[in-house]
Amino acid sequence: METRKLLMIPGPIEFEPEVYEAMNVPTKSHVAPDFIESFGRSLEMMKEVWQCPNGQAFIIAGTGTLAMDLAGANLIEPGDKALVISTGYFGERYADLLKRYGAEVVILRAPVGMAVPLDIIENELAGGDYKLMTFTHVDTSTAVLNHPEQLGALGIKYDILTVLDGVCSVAAEEIRQEEWGIDVDLTASQKAIGVPPGLALLLVSQKAMKIWEKRDTPVGNYYADWTNWLPIMNAYEARKPSYFGTPAVNLILGLEASLKIILEEGLVNRFQRHQDMSSLFRSGIEGMGLKMIPRHMNLYANTLSAIFYPDGINGGKFISKINEAGVIVAGGLLPDLKSKYFRVGHMGRVNADDIQITLKAIEYAIGNG
Ligand code: PMP
Repeated sequence: METRKLLMIPGPIEFEPEVYEAMNVPTKSHVAPDFIESFGRSLEMMKEVWQCPNGQAFIIAGTGTLAMDLAGANLIEPGDKALVISTGYFGERYADLLKRYGAEVVILRAPVGMAVPLDIIENELAGGDYKLMTFTHVDTSTAVLNHPEQLGALGIKYDILTVLDGVCSVAAEEIRQEEWGIDVDLTASQKAIGVPPGLALLLVSQKAMKIWEKRDTPVGNYYADWTNWLPIMNAYEARKPSYFGTPAVNLILGLEASLKIILEEGLVNRFQRHQDMSSLFRSGIEGMGLKMIPRHMNLYANTLSAIFYPDGINGGKFISKINEAGVIVAGGLLPDLKSKYFRVGHMGRVNADDIQITLKAIEYAIGNG
């Protein structure tokens, strides 16, 4: 039998045994009363985890990119101005996506390892007639953390919609969506939410839903159109059968189990644990003399680290040595720097033993590189 290795990439992550147990049942009808209950409870628990009690939750089969697409397709009309704050690869993806729906996109790009300063963002918002701004909570290519509270405040001040790509943050980095005025916080199941890949998850403010309702043009994407999905989400929350596209039944059973675990741990404890695991990992890495991509303490993410390879080391060989020591990590993602760094995810059920095993595997790779 193949020896099981520890999966420390930034998603998919290691999942809780209870999540697999919940999924490991014969698939039910999507209108079976007990499945309706699981779907409805999951929508309700999402609002607790996102801290957005009055928001509209959506659970749709697809990946994080579909979650990005849902926000873009429904909130952009041709000719709308959108500001994209890019801290890496996924900011660029959002800019491309919004253009497909006819947005006039302006991108503010941070140098690698940095965030875009708030005064530059504010200056741009003050001078432009923007409808919407997107930003990435943690860009998985750079491990740079944005501070959504500050960006949400700018959104309120300039009365625009704010869309947070929370794929690498929800259920691990602190978020108070409603209090911080974030209109959409979107994610995917395979990261800190703790469910195998295949669910696009999103929470939308009532302000954004009203703006969507008043669209002049139809949504240019049939599958993504909230016109099709809103009645389904409302029906499941009201514990009624409904159908538009077949839900990913077993994944939703896993989601229900994982959201329960997250809420049982408590959000404050969970955010703190992620912070503790991240600093434990970082101090080990710094102890080995390695350097991180984020350039300031307050830009370090709690969900993952992006680390430069030691000088003169072949990246591919380094990663396979880590693998040989029992741990799977990810290579670089930024096109220009790909061969210069690697990434380690530390989110979800990660504990201090996982961190120590990973640090030892990296040490082994340095010693045998
Ligand atoms: N945004 C961020 C920040 C991500 O990390 C990812 C996935 N790595 C995505 C979007 C896209 O998600 P998916 O791969 O599930 O489509």
